[in-house]
Amino acid sequence: MQYISTRGNAPVLSFEEAMLTGLAGDGGLYVPETVPTLSADDIRAMNGQSYEEIAFRVMRPFVDATFSDDDFRAIIARAYEGFGHLARAPLTQLDTNHFLLELFHGPTLAFKDFAMQLIGQLFQTALARRGERVTIVGATSGDTGSAAIEAFRGLDNVDVFILFPHGRVSEVQRRQMTTPAESNVHALAVDGDFDDCQAALKEMFADHDFRDEVRLAAVNSINWARVLAQVVYYFSSAVSLGAPDRKVSFTVPTGNFGDIFAGYIARQMGLPIDRLVVATNQNDILHRCLSGQGYRKGETRPSVSPSMDIQVSSNFERALFDAYGRDGKAVAQLMDELKTGGFDVSQGAMEYLTEIFDSGAASEEETLKTIAETLRDSAELICPHSAVGVKVAKALRDTDVPMITLATAHPAKFPAAVEEASGQHPPLPPRMADLYDRPERVTRIANDLAALKQHIRGMRSK
Ligand SMILES: *Cc1c(COP(=O)(O)O)cnc(C)c1O
Repeated sequence: MQYISTRGNAPVLSFEEAMLTGLAGDGGLYVPETVPTLSADDIRAMNGQSYEEIAFRVMRPFVDATFSDDDFRAIIARAYEGFGHLARAPLTQLDTNHFLLELFHGPTLAFKDFAMQLIGQLFQTALARRGERVTIVGATSGDTGSAAIEAFRGLDNVDVFILFPHGRVSEVQRRQMTTPAESNVHALAVDGDFDDCQAALKEMFADHDFRDEVRLAAVNSINWARVLAQVVYYFSSAVSLGAPDRKVSFTVPTGNFGDIFAGYIARQMGLPIDRLVVATNQNDILHRCLSGQGYRKGETRPSVSPSMDIQVSSNFERALFDAYGRDGKAVAQLMDELKTGGFDVSQGAMEYLTEIFDSGAASEEETLKTIAETLRDSAELICPHSAVGVKVAKALRDTDVPMITLATAHPAKFPAAVEEASGQHPPLPPRMADLYDRPERVTRIANDLAALKQHIRGMRSK
């Protein structure tokens, strides 16, 4: 299996290379040259299998010769053993034919754990075999950093440094980053805001001497391996509701289009998905685009679902690549136009996209109201991101087709908004109840590139 860039001007890579590289050299994103398909019998045979077994069967064809079957099974087993639920991604029911897919039983209580935990194990196995080490550096406004730290803590061939804005992440988020005791984990509280952290990160990657010296690596949301890990729960949930002999639909609260793009891949692999519904908060560039208003940047407005507060949606480029007939030149041109504001999507591409995707947006008020309603009507306390999904799903779903709405975070991760909406304080799961008692370890550091580089040089394992 080979991977090609959405902008058509970067080397073709193997799974291992695409995973370790992340972004393509031409600025594009890696996608598989062809998407492997599973037959109806293959899908039927997943019925009653463990999450790990389904993960193996779904991802195996994409990974190809990079790992042996035994190694790949061991990687998957280690990735999900730390989850707080044996089903890994259990379904609960909200209403007749409306289900919630709980993706928040991982170590940081959000769906990003599904991808990050797997990527940690994939990196470790590949690096150990190559006899290499890398330094992962990331910038976070909260969620991604904790997921990365949880994924790489204690792994021999990786150091992980996470930059976060001092005083500007929630206490749960900070403690998730500062309480792991392993010596390869480094939480850095930068005196600045999230944009400062991101700018510092960008400059480190642009400094080729530094990049080579510490073997800098990134695991941001455009990494193909992250998308791949998320394809699995579309299969596991659909199969438990009768796929392939019954169609299901999905509603996905989304910002960067990563999670819903994984659903699109599941559909291409042969999973009978009726509709894929994009649910955005008030930062609704995707909803506007899919409603025919072009793809145009707006101002990012902070919301109660902060993990979906984005200006542009990086993974959408992968969908555009297919919608434009896999014409990398056309995509490169669109992305150029995006730099100066945006572009109109061609009629043919719009037809391609709307054949598969529906979309809707939830306002702040609707989001909070949905949290209260869901508690009242279905006795489930949901996080604000999941509430965006539930609101849009209720508005758009065909009640004859099972709708699965993805619940992307545990309500205890966003206690303020949940309590404001419902009057209930969401407790942490018992396995994390001591989070507030664990000792913290963090380095406060000036918003100064030279100081950051010096610190990373000095602290990484040699
Ligand atoms: C990251 C995140 C999202 C958005 O996911 P995308 O892959 O960017 O679409 C939604 N909800 C939560 C809780 C998240 O952390």
